[in-house]
Amino acid sequence: MKNTKASSSKVKNFEPGEHIRVVPLHHPKPSVSIDEQSQRRREGDDHELFDGKPHPASANAKLTYRNGPLLENAQVFTVFWGNLWGGTPISKDIMNKLNQFFADILVSPLIDQLAEYNVSGKAIGHGTLTGTNLINANAPVGSVTDSMIKKQLKKWIQTKTVPKNTKNTLYFIYLDPGVISILSGSKSCQNFCGYHNNVGNVYYAVMPYPTCSGCLGGMTAFDALTGTSSHELCEAITDPVPGAGWYDDVNGEIGDICAWNFKKVDGYTVQLEWSNEQGKCV
Ligand SMILES: [Zn+2]
Repeated sequence: MKNTKASSSKVKNFEPGEHIRVVPLHHPKPSVSIDEQSQRRREGDDHELFDGKPHPASANAKLTYRNGPLLENAQVFTVFWGNLWGGTPISKDIMNKLNQFFADILVSPLIDQLAEYNVSGKAIGHGTLTGTNLINANAPVGSVTDSMIKKQLKKWIQTKTVPKNTKNTLYFIYLDPGVISILSGSKSCQNFCGYHNNVGNVYYAVMPYPTCSGCLGGMTAFDALTGTSSHELCEAITDPVPGAGWYDDVNGEIGDICAWNFKKVDGYTVQLEWSNEQGKCV
């Protein structure tokens, strides 16, 4: 990726390129005008300037296609990996509601709007929730790195704990409250709120439970989870191998450009996504 001022202000604390996989933190800050923001950027201020209001998308954002795979009809399988999931009525309720969220959102206008990113031989259409599993075995305590996730996911596939991946499978792995996700030394709730990635042709997203203001953004945990999950879902559909699908060298993936701008679809909080056709977040 190019090391521009705009990207360096976004990727601080990340290895080059790592920001493309993640939902960044929501940082309520004292209100500053867009003029002041660009002024500070010109002055090289490295702080992330976010005032809690809709974050202005870069006017010249443009995703270009890099010839990699797309998820044409996403088959989402959810994994609740932890010792706490399912142990209380509240956590059971959130699990059920998250599964219902995927069942509903995968056939919703949120997916329809991604059709502008169809390419020759690859058409993005509705997906399905193929199943879910509550897994306590080897549940991480304290923290879990991305390499541990990759290893575990491969083992789950081998042992048929999760269905074998197809070209459209996307595993969503939800962690227990208090378990920190670590990606290249960056940590959830300090540096990011969730990410998607791949190990070969196995595509997955890791969703730590939001317990900090930077990942709750003033919302309930469930709304924050659907918001960040929708961010990763749309990114994984349009760029399942990060940087090899639809990508913008300066601004990142489809969801990064519009981070922390939300709307309601079918009653769920979901994030706006960048539209090349309309030149804005929609
Ligand atoms: Zn992202």
